[in-house]
Amino acid sequence: MERIIQQTDYDALSCKLAAISAGYLPSSALQGLPVDLAKKYTQWHREYLLTLKKFSRRAFGKVDQAMRSSFPVMNYGTYLRTVGIDVAILDFLGANERVQVVNLGCGSDLRMLPLLMMFPHLRCVEIDYSDSVQLKNKILRENGTLRNALGLSEDSADSSPVLVDQERYKLVACDLNDVLETTRLLDTCTDGDIPTIIISECLLCYMHEKESHSLIHTVSAKYTHGLWISYDPIGGSQPNDRFGTIMQSNLKESRNLEMPTLMTYNSKEKYASRWSITPNVIINDMWEVLNTQIPETERRRLRALQFLDELEELKVMQTHYILMKAQW
Ligand code: SAM
Repeated sequence: MERIIQQTDYDALSCKLAAISAGYLPSSALQGLPVDLAKKYTQWHREYLLTLKKFSRRAFGKVDQAMRSSFPVMNYGTYLRTVGIDVAILDFLGANERVQVVNLGCGSDLRMLPLLMMFPHLRCVEIDYSDSVQLKNKILRENGTLRNALGLSEDSADSSPVLVDQERYKLVACDLNDVLETTRLLDTCTDGDIPTIIISECLLCYMHEKESHSLIHTVSAKYTHGLWISYDPIGGSQPNDRFGTIMQSNLKESRNLEMPTLMTYNSKEKYASRWSITPNVIINDMWEVLNTQIPETERRRLRALQFLDELEELKVMQTHYILMKAQW
C-alpha cells in the first residue's frame, strides 16, 4: 500500500505540469511572483520532470502521459488547489516575519523554491516517505538549475533521514503514520516558538483515522503559533451524493488504492471538526474558493486559456474538495 500511496505524487506532479503547460499556473497576481520568478517557476517544474526521466523512465512516462491527457476541468482544479494554498501562505507571511513552513507529504511539490527566494527569513521543512524524498533529493542535486536555486552540493547526503540539511531548507524521510518518529524529527528540524505553517495537501486522505488524528494533534501541539492548511477530497454527505463511493470504488479497482476517511469526513463541517481544538478554523469547498476568492480579472484570464463547457462537472468536482485553514 505504501508504494501505491507514494505513486499518487505522480498524479499531483502531472496535474501541476499540465496546468503550467496550459498557462493556468503560475498566477503571478495571486502567487505574488515577480516576472523573473514566474519564468523560473515554469522552468523549475519542466527541469524537474526532465531530470525525473534520468532516474525513472517509468515514472517519467506516467507523468508525461497523464500530463498530456489533462482536461480543462482538471487544470481548473489544480489551479485552485495551488493558488488557494499559496494565498493562505502569503497571508500568514504578510502578518509574521520569521516563519517556518512544514510540508507534510510534500512529494514533488516545488513551492519551497519561490518561497525561499521571496522571503529571506523563511525556513522550509519537507517530509515524505523515504523512497519519495530520496528520489526528490537525487533530482534536486542532479539538475544544475534546481541545485543552484537551493544552493545544494551535487553529492548526496549520508543515510540520515534528513537528506537535505541546510539552515533554511530540510528534506526529511519519515513515515507520518509513526508519530513518535515524526515528533523526534520535527524537534530536530523546527523550533516550536517560531510561527509555523503546516501544509497537508492530499495527504490526510490516504491516512487512517487513528493515525491522522494523532498526527494533527501532536504536530499542532508542538507550535505556539501556527496555521494548518489542508486540502483534500470529501465524499459528500447529501443522501443522493455518490461522488465519494464512486471515487473509492474506482481507486480500489484501478490501483488498489484506499482513501480510508473519505466518507467519515464527508462534509466541510465534519472535516473541520478534526481541528476542533483550534480557535479559528475556516473551511471552503473549492467551488466557493473559485467564486468568492478568485478575482474576476483572474477568472477572465482562466476562461481565455481553454474552452470549458463542462461547468456542471467542474462544480460537482470542486464541491467535493476542500481547503481548510486552522489558525492558533
Ligand atoms: N503534497 C504533494 C502535492 O500536493 O503536490 C503530494 C501529494 S501526493 C497525492 C501524496 C503524498 O503524500 C505522496 O508523496 C505520499 O508519498 C505522501 N504520503 C502519504 N502518506 C504518507 C505517510 N504516511 N508518510 C509520509 N508521506 C506520506
